[in-house]
This record gives sequence, structure tokens and C-alpha cells, in this order.
Amino acid sequence: KEKLLEVKDLKVYFEIGHDKIAKAVDGVSFSINKGETVALVGESGSGKSVTSLSIMRLIPTPPGKIVGGSIELDGQDLLSYTEKNMRKVRGEDIGMIFQEPMTSLDPVFKIENQLIESIIYHQRISKKEAKQRALELLQLVGIANPEKVLHEYPHQLSGGMRQRVMIAIAMSNNPKLLIADEPTTALDVTVQAQILKLMLKMKDSFNSSILLITHDMGVVAETADRVLVMYGGQIVEEAQVKELFLNPKHPYTAALLRTIPSLEQNTRRLPSIPGNVPPAHKFPKGCRFADRCEFAMDICRESAPALGRISDGHQVRCHLPFMKGGQEIGEETRSI
Ligand code: SF4
Ligand code: MG
Repeated sequence: KEKLLEVKDLKVYFEIGHDKIAKAVDGVSFSINKGETVALVGESGSGKSVTSLSIMRLIPTPPGKIVGGSIELDGQDLLSYTEKNMRKVRGEDIGMIFQEPMTSLDPVFKIENQLIESIIYHQRISKKEAKQRALELLQLVGIANPEKVLHEYPHQLSGGMRQRVMIAIAMSNNPKLLIADEPTTALDVTVQAQILKLMLKMKDSFNSSILLITHDMGVVAETADRVLVMYGGQIVEEAQVKELFLNPKHPYTAALLRTIPSLEQNTRRLPSIPGNVPPAHKFPKGCRFADRCEFAMDICRESAPALGRISDGHQVRCHLPFMKGGQEIGEETRSI
């Protein structure tokens, strides 16, 4: 497997007045292989969006700052890039889709202007060729009458159609990586399923990889190859999707899995996990989940758990799987 993205020990801090530092992302490491779909999950405030914005170098500075770590995309060191180079990377190497209505579609321009402009900005082709390409892309994302849609304004389209257009724009320059931040959260369930399917189809036909940010484990189940669970600015569990669903080791992951609505419930209102994500300017000294954890032990308040290995590709940041009869098992014997 070839690596596409490699994030190492990323730290992104925000200054929030009076010597207060919010450690929004606090030592995050992960990689994405070519062709892979990786889901980054967690509640809001866990650091998922800040992680993805950092990869695109879109952290507002100040108050935010990438204070440590590295981000490499296909061998390019993104943290060393100038803003001018990053503008090329965004749209060309990295395509982006955000949550409706936070899409980057501009309400005052027709779809034609926005899609064609994105193509012309990154590819040296004529307007006529760009228009041809735009029509092809709209067809690829399942829009039946591309010519008509080109001449419409965003508000004339449904939410699902707008997300299709966004995917067309995101894929218009054949990016290596597609970053999708809650791309279907505002859509109704049937449209949501269509859009997720479309994203995967586009990923395959363009040979890209996907980083999907979501709080919805149902979405994860339908799309991801591998899952990273984030809590309190850190990755607390990482595993292949099947392993994570069958064998969750972190109490937070288990709680997230219980928030998937069952078919019988016939509702999208997710039951939430009691309590709140700790504020990023005052994490406790021990485990960051301890206040909400039904299994919290004395050691959890005393010492912060490190990521430990469960099996190949499965890691967890929790003392529990590494305890036996109230004693911590030595690192070298850790295997469960
Ligand atoms: Fe719960 Fe302790 Fe594991 Fe934290 S380290 S999740 S408090 S069992
Ligand atoms: Mg977010």
C-alpha cells in the first residue's frame, strides 16, 4: 500500500485571550493510503475540523497556529509551502466539500461561472474546453440536464443538487485527496445515501483518496475503510472499519456506536453521550474522557493513557484493555 497523506504529531493551538491556550489538536498522527477512505469521527469540539483545516492550511492565524508536527501529501511537505503554493494545492491536489449550507458556492454567481472558473484557474485550457469539461463533470455526478444547471444560481437547486455540484467542483482538477467535512449532515436520509455513494464512485474513477469528517457512525459504516476516533484533540482509537464496529476498545468509541439510530427507531435524532468534551484550554492531567467514562479507575485520573496496540492496525488510547486484576500490564506484553 502506498501512502498518500502522512500527518505526524500535529499540534494546532489557539490563543483564546489572557494566556489561555486551547490545544485543539494535540499530537495527532495518521496516514491515508492511495485509494483509501478514512473517516475521522468524534463529537463537535473534538478537533476533527481543525485537523482537516490544517491539512489545507486554512487555520485562521491568529488566533490559531500550527505549532508542531508535519503534514506530507504525496511527498510534498505542506507546512513549508507559501500561501501562493498552497492555493495551487487546494483545488488541484486537494478537493474540498463542506457541509451545506457552508458550501463554498457563491450565491451571486451561476454554477457555470463557479465550475468553469475553478477549471480554468488550475488547468491551462480555453473557456470552450473548460465548458465541455464542466458539462462532463456534471454528468458524472449524476445531473441529468447539465446544460440547464450550468445556467442556474445555487438557490435554484436543491440541497442534494448543490452537493453534487460541489463534488463536481471538488473533483474538477482530479485531486489526489478529497476532504469532506460533514458533507451530508444537512441532507435528508435518502439524499445522504446517494451523495455518499457518489463520493465513493468519484473517488474510484479519479483514483483519489478520501478523508471524511463526520460525527455520524452510520455514515462511517457506509463509507470508510479505516476509522480514526478523535477526542479532546487526540486520536483515541484507530482501526479498520469492521474491526472497530465489532471490537471497539475505547469506551468513547463504544458510546459513539450506541448513537447509531436503529432502523426501527426511524429517526435521525441521535441519542447523545452524557456530558461534554472537556474545553481544550484545560484538559485534565489523566485521561481526557475520564469525567464521562463509566469505567474510569484511579489510574485514569492520575496518568494520561498512551496509544497502545491491540492488533495489527488497531490502536487505542485507554488503560482499560491493558489492565489485568487491577494491575497495568507492561508495555511489551500488551496484546489482547
Ligand atoms: Fe475510561 Fe480510563 Fe479508558 Fe479513560 S483510560 S477511557 S477513563 S477506562
Ligand atoms: Mg466540524
